[in-house]
Amino acid sequence: MLPFIKTHPLQKIAQELREDLLDMVHKNGGHIGGSLSSIEIMIAVYFSNLFNLKKDHFILSAGHLAPALYTVLSKAKYFPKSLLDSYSTFNSPLQGHISTEVPGVEYSSGSLGQGLSFACGLALGDKKKKAICLTSDGEHQEGQIWEAVMFANKYKLGNLINIVDFNGYQIDGSVQDIMPLDNLATKYIQFGWTVTTVDGHNLHQLISTLKNAQKSNYPNCIIAKTIIGKGISFMENNFHYHDIKILPENLYLKAKSEL
Ligand SMILES: [Mg+2]
Repeated sequence: MLPFIKTHPLQKIAQELREDLLDMVHKNGGHIGGSLSSIEIMIAVYFSNLFNLKKDHFILSAGHLAPALYTVLSKAKYFPKSLLDSYSTFNSPLQGHISTEVPGVEYSSGSLGQGLSFACGLALGDKKKKAICLTSDGEHQEGQIWEAVMFANKYKLGNLINIVDFNGYQIDGSVQDIMPLDNLATKYIQFGWTVTTVDGHNLHQLISTLKNAQKSNYPNCIIAKTIIGKGISFMENNFHYHDIKILPENLYLKAKSEL
């Protein structure tokens, strides 16, 4: 008999934020696939009470996951929820890629592969504070990521956590087809990092792994295995939903009914 696994209390926030996300992107388009895959990761960082994000740092290196972070920041009261309605319109701080114009955001990103270096600098600058970085699997094809990985090992940045949203896809197809990462965990281990692979939609696993990572003397990589488009059947494992213009009304209603 399989053990009964209780749904994590924060899972209801994931449900709510997926609905907010869909409403935002339906109107003005955007990167919905990775936003849907990374929502539990961001919830684990912002709502588990493991971190004090007034002091600790969260760096979204995969800046196109902006819509997900906007819903999280709104839920965490960095700005009123009504601001989500302005997403991707002129003069709104909430653009398609994240920027420091957004309350609660300390790093502008969108050019992939750079955020981990920034997080390394923060981690080295004050070892009492945690630096949590969220990268995508696709951006591990950028050379700068590996410079940061070596740097973190050299300076034994035990206060650095890199969470990889490993959904297996990038804008033009599967990561494995475009430029394979092969065994990413082994690569990080060989670079001196502590690595844990988790189900990136399981908040129990994400939170307990983040808790363990806080005690580490070595940089931590959490490989979160996720599903692109998670929660909406026709978007799941479909790289065509990496980014959308607008969602036709019939598909919007279908998606809405599934969340
Ligand atoms: Mg990906």
